[in-house]
Amino acid sequence: MPKQARLNGIKGFRCYTIDEAAEVSGVSPRTIRNWAADGLHVMDATRPSLIRGDDLRKHIKSKRDSRSVKTRIDTFYCVRCRDERQAAERLADCDIKSGRAKLTALCEVCGTVVSKPVAVARIPEIVRTLDLKITRL
Ligand SMILES: [Zn+2]
Repeated sequence: MPKQARLNGIKGFRCYTIDEAAEVSGVSPRTIRNWAADGLHVMDATRPSLIRGDDLRKHIKSKRDSRSVKTRIDTFYCVRCRDERQAAERLADCDIKSGRAKLTALCEVCGTVVSKPVAVARIPEIVRTLDLKITRL
């Protein structure tokens, strides 16, 4: 898991130097410079360069949004591939425990174990495309 940048504590109306921005958002100055290369607005006319708090917040929020990958009901998010993947061989284990179901499978690309919770009510929909081995715990 990459370290999650913090939003709390960044004041929208304040300006931060690169080091201060790194400190307040809990990442390294290097990361802040990467963000600047990646679209974070930096006021270059000033010395040292300053970053507005609201720009910093906006950038961190948009990073969060782009990182969350939506998966279909029969696909998984693979942490190694960092992308949506099918279950290898279309096989998955389905453990049902006190009304909750958890699907576990292998990533079809890298073989990493992938899993996700699903609603028990959606299992009939899932078995249309995945071969489930259902275990009631
Ligand atoms: Zn994978």
